[in-house]
Amino acid sequence: MGDKGEEGDRMALMKFDNESAASLVSELRGSFNSGRTRGYEWRAVQLKMMVKLIDNHESEIVEALRSDLSKPEMESFISEISMTKNSCKVSLKELKHWMKPERAKTTLTSFPSSAEIVSEPLGVVLVISAWNYPFLLSLDPVIGAIAAGNAVVLKPSEISPATSSLMARLLPEYLDRSVVRIVEGAVAETTALLEQRWDKIFYTGNGKVGRIVMAAAAKHLTPVVLELGGKSPVVVDSNINLDVAVKRIIAGKWACNNGQACIAPDYVITPKSFAPKLIDAFKHTLEKFYGKDPLESKDLSRIVNSNHFSRLAKLLDDEKVAGKIVHGGQRDEKRPTIAPTILLDVPQDSLIMNEEIFGPLLPIITVDKVEDSFNVINSKSKPLAAYLFTKNKQLEKDFVNAVSAGGMLINDTCIHLALHTLPFGGVGESGMGSYHGKFSFDAFSHKKAVLHRGFGGEASARYPPYTPKKQRLLRALLNGDIIGLILALIGWPRV
Ligand code: NAD
Repeated sequence: MGDKGEEGDRMALMKFDNESAASLVSELRGSFNSGRTRGYEWRAVQLKMMVKLIDNHESEIVEALRSDLSKPEMESFISEISMTKNSCKVSLKELKHWMKPERAKTTLTSFPSSAEIVSEPLGVVLVISAWNYPFLLSLDPVIGAIAAGNAVVLKPSEISPATSSLMARLLPEYLDRSVVRIVEGAVAETTALLEQRWDKIFYTGNGKVGRIVMAAAAKHLTPVVLELGGKSPVVVDSNINLDVAVKRIIAGKWACNNGQACIAPDYVITPKSFAPKLIDAFKHTLEKFYGKDPLESKDLSRIVNSNHFSRLAKLLDDEKVAGKIVHGGQRDEKRPTIAPTILLDVPQDSLIMNEEIFGPLLPIITVDKVEDSFNVINSKSKPLAAYLFTKNKQLEKDFVNAVSAGGMLINDTCIHLALHTLPFGGVGESGMGSYHGKFSFDAFSHKKAVLHRGFGGEASARYPPYTPKKQRLLRALLNGDIIGLILALIGWPRV
């Protein structure tokens, strides 16, 4: 186990400013430069300790998530605990393989030689995470940073304080404190951290702060990964298994943190003639899942805080959506919570269609024919995820071709995020860069090109004076013209 310096960390927290941030980075840079993170052993030990941390404290993690979000235990287990642990296990299983230099082909230009791509750690990296999946979104990037051999500072979200403080207590107990650190805090602390020179910044959150992060990174030419959000659409064709489709949309919307998930379905688009059937199926299944009074359901997370409650209430109170609620709409400011709510055909210039909803409201937009949905989606910023429900294979192909999104899933929602073989990240306004599995390792590595040569294979044509014969030889060589090369070598003219 690492040093038990929690008390010291807490004290430092209270007055964390530019100076403390600079001294933290300098301390970690010293540890990184000592080379301790470079070998396989150190990385593997940290990853194993992370698994131990999760196993030993599962119930505390569940309690912290309940306190921050009223997250149901089942959801905490599936999407925070198990996914984080799985990420460690995949890294542990694959790490030796990932760390191996990758052979690259050589060409005539460097003959004789051998080439390889070496993954080297970037150095000292900063991870800034968001509140909605506060355990997973904090530790999953940290796992990638450790696997790639970096020193790392984690700054969790202040909006999920119980999970943040639990991680601040546990991380130094389990991980090498000279290389992995956590700084709790809000804007002031993050700003102090952003002043420093990092070798990579990995940020999860909204695009407005994403721009602040990128501007701060630009001062030091620091590369960034921005894991942002957006309005993730769900296209529902009429040619579907309605029962399965509706259950899977509900699972992605309301059973994922009550809509407070970056890849939660934001709005549905469906043919006008199919909408009544779809809405009936939603009503029926929502009642089956969450009862007649969903505000009392133990299987729905609450809205994280009163600011977010007011933000969502504003979307519902917008006069442009008056009379558009076809299901739900109940809310309780005190808890704070809002029932699963469906709105039909809200205008495109309403507030709800112009910002990421990030909550339990689901507008359904109708179109004449299902293909018209592509134009609706493409008229907005590129989303983090796009979903399609259909049995029509041609429509599936057209959707993949016509719609740009961070990721796509046909006939389900959200579960693409659980595949470590797929990169997870946005495009355009939904972010840049990606992670998960090997993509996390790559996000925190530099791919160093290494060419090995001996002292043989001298080609005098490379050196001055540049005679016509040498020029002919070099031209043939660089153009890959083998016959021209032979002719130049033996001094025959080209016919
Ligand atoms: P948040 O409020 O927790 O903010 C994220 C982080 O930014 C926090 O650590 C916070 O302290 C920091 N921060 C806030 N204001 C800052 C400022 N002015 N300067 C510097 N740092 C600041 O989270 P949020 O932004 O409300 O998160 C929700 C958004 O994140 C949604 O848009 C959602 O789609 C997106 N998200 C994306 C992913 C993904 O993986 N792509 C995952 C979760 C959430």
